[in-house]
Amino acid sequence: MNWLETEVMKKVKAIAFVLALGVMALSGFTGLSETVDRQIRNLRYETTSTPASGNIGLIRIDDKSIGELGAYPWSRDKYAKMLEELSGKGVKRLAFDISFRSPSQDPGNDRKLADAMRQADFAIALPTPAEAAREQIQHVSYPLPELREHADELVSIWVDTNEDGKIEHVPQSSVLDGDLRRSIGPWLVNAPKAEKGIQIDWSIKHDRLPAYSFVDVIQGKIPEQELQGKSLIIGADLDLLGDTWMTSDGRRISGARVQMVAAETLLKGQGPTLDRWLVGIVTLSVAGIFMLWCRNGVIIAASFALGLAIVALHWKLEASGIALLETGAALYGLGALSLSTGALAVATYLHDRITRNEGTGLPNQRAMRFAREEGGCTVVIRVINHLEIVAELGADGRDMIMGKIAKAINASSGGRHVYQIEAGSFAWKAGCDLDSVTNNVMALLSTLRSGVSCAGGSIDIGVSAGIHQDDGSSVEVSVSRAAVAANKASAKGLAYEVWEQGVGDERWKLTVFSEVNKAIENGDLWNAYQPKVDVRRKEVIGAEALARWQHPEKGHVRPDLFIPLLEKSDRMDEFTAYMLNRAIMDFTSVPGNLSLAVNISPVMIGKGKLPGIIREALRKHGFAPERLTIEVTETAGFKDPTAIQEVEELSRDGIGVSIDDYGTGFSTINYLKVLPATELKIDRSFVANILSSHSDRRLVDSTIKLAHEMGMKVVAEGVESPELMDVLELLACDTVQGYYTGRPMDIEAFRRHCQTKCTQW
Ligand code: C2E
Ligand code: CA
Ligand code: CA
Repeated sequence: MNWLETEVMKKVKAIAFVLALGVMALSGFTGLSETVDRQIRNLRYETTSTPASGNIGLIRIDDKSIGELGAYPWSRDKYAKMLEELSGKGVKRLAFDISFRSPSQDPGNDRKLADAMRQADFAIALPTPAEAAREQIQHVSYPLPELREHADELVSIWVDTNEDGKIEHVPQSSVLDGDLRRSIGPWLVNAPKAEKGIQIDWSIKHDRLPAYSFVDVIQGKIPEQELQGKSLIIGADLDLLGDTWMTSDGRRISGARVQMVAAETLLKGQGPTLDRWLVGIVTLSVAGIFMLWCRNGVIIAASFALGLAIVALHWKLEASGIALLETGAALYGLGALSLSTGALAVATYLHDRITRNEGTGLPNQRAMRFAREEGGCTVVIRVINHLEIVAELGADGRDMIMGKIAKAINASSGGRHVYQIEAGSFAWKAGCDLDSVTNNVMALLSTLRSGVSCAGGSIDIGVSAGIHQDDGSSVEVSVSRAAVAANKASAKGLAYEVWEQGVGDERWKLTVFSEVNKAIENGDLWNAYQPKVDVRRKEVIGAEALARWQHPEKGHVRPDLFIPLLEKSDRMDEFTAYMLNRAIMDFTSVPGNLSLAVNISPVMIGKGKLPGIIREALRKHGFAPERLTIEVTETAGFKDPTAIQEVEELSRDGIGVSIDDYGTGFSTINYLKVLPATELKIDRSFVANILSSHSDRRLVDSTIKLAHEMGMKVVAEGVESPELMDVLELLACDTVQGYYTGRPMDIEAFRRHCQTKCTQW
């Protein structure tokens, strides 16, 4: 499980996307996006040049002309001369970038110019300079009526500068005194009147456009074919005369040249404008699709690729005059998207670092805390031999094995999330029903016990489990309690333990002895009897006495919550004597020769007191020793010869000896030989699994055979189903005991139980 796939991740991604949209909108509204567009354009202007048509030319009022014709402004007969000179040379259009607003000192010169205009064989435009005031174009000045009359069109020389004082746009037409007038450039190429801006393409180099000195033209020095088909501007083209404008690269050029580049830009074509919102939304939509389907790394890469693609498109479309593309907002959006996704990737990485186990990549306890899974039992399993696994296979081998164990847990727990809480421990949240949880755990343990395959071989896994039932505790507390229970199970050689309030409860530990004494006095301690059933005859042949404590405040207290405490503090004598006496007394009223099995704590054996206690109880109630069986667990204590002697002594009296919980403790075959046992009780952790685990079934089978060879009867514990009973019959097991043939019950219930021979077994 990766939090990448979680709802949280989806939400975070959605936030990143909305953030990107916000940044895009902000850049669009604040004009930041234009700055980006400008930079992309400027880069193109600086690095490339676009060829011009060459049909737009400039007649320069330059130093050379002033040198030869005298100080500027010139008398208007010079312009008349110019018009005469140009006539008949195939010139198409001529625009003056010179305003003739006041009459000449010599009115004859104005008349000469008017005549020449009338006679010229090309269209002539005269400018209408204006000023801007209060954000409006005002103070329009018109040419002398006498000249104006012969002009084909009055044109605007108005240009806009951006905030840097540079020229980016030239209006195609401007409203002057209520009339829409074309700018010179558009007029030169006869573009229609339109109230829009021409995005000047500065990659058209103004200094490569045809330009002629005024004086050369009037002196007839320019060959006719040079002027053929040209549209011309006459204008000042030197700094001294003012009227200079800044181009994209910060250089100043004359207004006439600006108009020429505008005209060439129109000839090249501009296409429609794909504005920032359109480009932004399309781009972010594409990026959004990536966000839905891809991992963070891919999203970042895709954002970069998209960014590059739209920059390239911007460049290409504008260079070839297909369309104007405003990409700044989209780029801002993509930038924000990459940044937030990058931050997300870093956060994911860090989150992974702190919530995953380094070696196996499995989520750790912190991840379990974050996941906040709903109630139910918390299960912990400990791989007891995990250090041996590291020693044998190295950390990598260990991690591989742990990965397999995690998979097995996942499969057996119905696909639940498994957390590796320590190198050799796993935890998960199982269901609420303790019985089915323990069944699953037992099945899992048996699978694991049959070994995990590794490098062609099989590695033995020693595991124990602990279960903590949900009581509203935090994940830490639940996991710790389950882990404590798992430790206890492994210390006792049990397959699993269920944690219960009381384990580790210091006050309980301190008061338990006096409480047990009180319980004996008050009769709160009593025995429950669980039937033992002969497998073939399907008859109850006896019962095991199991201590029960009905505590006035705590309610039912499980025997394994207080017996170990009594054992540890050497307080078992009274308890054993009391329970034994009660059991024998109870059984005197049981009809037939049914046998009674009692559990004898290992701490009681070998101290010299047990035979006395037992004989005294038998004598007191006149109970035949042959009807009594003591159940002893395999412990290290039996290495002591006096312990064995004591058991032998009891055995000689005719008392049966049963080896309890066989398979979980220190079982060695040798130990079976030294103890004069009459019965072997196979622990329920193995029995429960014989239907699912081949290895457990083999173990039970061989144990039964071995016990029979040694002259012992075999009891299978924990039989919960008819199927188990059938298999055990096939395996030639003698006796079964478990919930299926009867739960532990009080003596009254047991007596009734014996009288009804249950046919359904
Ligand atoms: P044990 O001797 O192995 O007793 C069998 C335990 O398995 C009992 O738990 C019984 O209730 C339970 N059991 C029986 N059939 C089934 C089944 O089909 N499925 C499952 N899941 N469990 C089944 P209980 O009564 O809680 O006793 C726990 C342990 O406490 C006993 O394990 C025994 O070691 C100890 N104990 C109980 N009474 C005494 C006693 O009087 N003296 C001593 N020294 N120990 C006792
Ligand atoms: Ca027992
Ligand atoms: Ca047992």
